[in-house]
Amino acid sequence: MSHWEFSRELDALKRQQLYRSRLTLSGPQGAQVQIEGELYDNFSSNDYLGLAHHPEVINAFQQAAQQYGVGSGSAHLICGHSLEHQALEEELAAFTGRERALVISTGYMANLGAISALTRKGDEIFQDKLNHASLIDGGRLSEADLRRYSHGDMKRLAQLLEKSSSDRKLIASDGVFSMDGDEAPLNDLITVAKNSNALLMIDDAHGIGVFGDKGGGLLEKYGLTQQQVPVLMATFGKALGTSGAFIAGSDELIEMLIQKARTYIFTTAMPPAIMAATRQSLRRCQEDTWRREKLVSLVSRFRHGAKQLGLHILPSDSPIQPVILGSNEAVMSASNFLKKRSILVGAIRHPTVKKSSERLRITFSANHTERQVDKLLSSLEASLC
Ligand SMILES: *Cc1c(COP(=O)(O)O)cnc(C)c1O
Repeated sequence: MSHWEFSRELDALKRQQLYRSRLTLSGPQGAQVQIEGELYDNFSSNDYLGLAHHPEVINAFQQAAQQYGVGSGSAHLICGHSLEHQALEEELAAFTGRERALVISTGYMANLGAISALTRKGDEIFQDKLNHASLIDGGRLSEADLRRYSHGDMKRLAQLLEKSSSDRKLIASDGVFSMDGDEAPLNDLITVAKNSNALLMIDDAHGIGVFGDKGGGLLEKYGLTQQQVPVLMATFGKALGTSGAFIAGSDELIEMLIQKARTYIFTTAMPPAIMAATRQSLRRCQEDTWRREKLVSLVSRFRHGAKQLGLHILPSDSPIQPVILGSNEAVMSASNFLKKRSILVGAIRHPTVKKSSERLRITFSANHTERQVDKLLSSLEASLC
């Protein structure tokens, strides 16, 4: 008999309601999406500002494709680094108030590359248990020892740091947690890092574009400097509506990554047109403050309605609004019910989240209407109440 019993493993996933499958969109990402000829209200994407199909962003992409072609043809360190990459990096450094920024093909790769490049054997890495998989995997890839503390537990983190005998300690945390939508206690993290001489890295994938007057993310919202948060990572694929990621910090940090981050060195540079599109969306992000205001108002409308229905929501100010249902079966049944009403929400099951905290992950976009939010609420009521 074969040792590779894929079909048995796949059947087991199906039995446990853990089987994952994909939707196939036939149009742009947005507050409504088209699937097999049907339109759905989309409460499952991370396109928080509604920039993924903004005409100016599309136009910038098209113009750059005319000028540069499509593929970058090479890694950055060979001949794949273009003026568009360079310009975006300079704009990101100014946008985040850091000395320098480095674009990396995806957020997953940025976290893997940065953590494994910055740490070595004998170092210790401290991570929140609810950190994004890419931070955790970066810790696993690194030769340093990985310690995880319970979500937001600063006492425990301080204890772990005190017990540590290594000279070099790295603390890495999501800024906004991707499944709960809550914020990391950034000021406490800064204090704890300072007291133990640890390097602090914040992944603001869900904060960038959403928080701060100009959309600079949680670090802009709280005015946190490069000294306080020396390693900042954020992505383009969420609020900025394009694709890719960056790390920002000191000149030396960026030089270290260029020399040592394997997910930067050994991969093809992103297409220049993606950089041009991101430069344009960064402009829209900074100027269109109405997008952030609209998000706040939609989120507050939803939270108000959800509380009236007695739904189990979490303390989140972000566009990520989970509704806890408590089992994989309940999550699948509610999300299928909503889909029949032409509404898409994220169905987040165990083991992505802890048992009994299985949830609908509902996300908002500045392009949603109040009517869409109201229909979502009445459909949740019909499904759950
Ligand atoms: C989405 C996400 C990433 C990964 O970014 P990609 O560009 O999609 O690879 C990393 N960290 C967090 C917190 C995320 O939510």
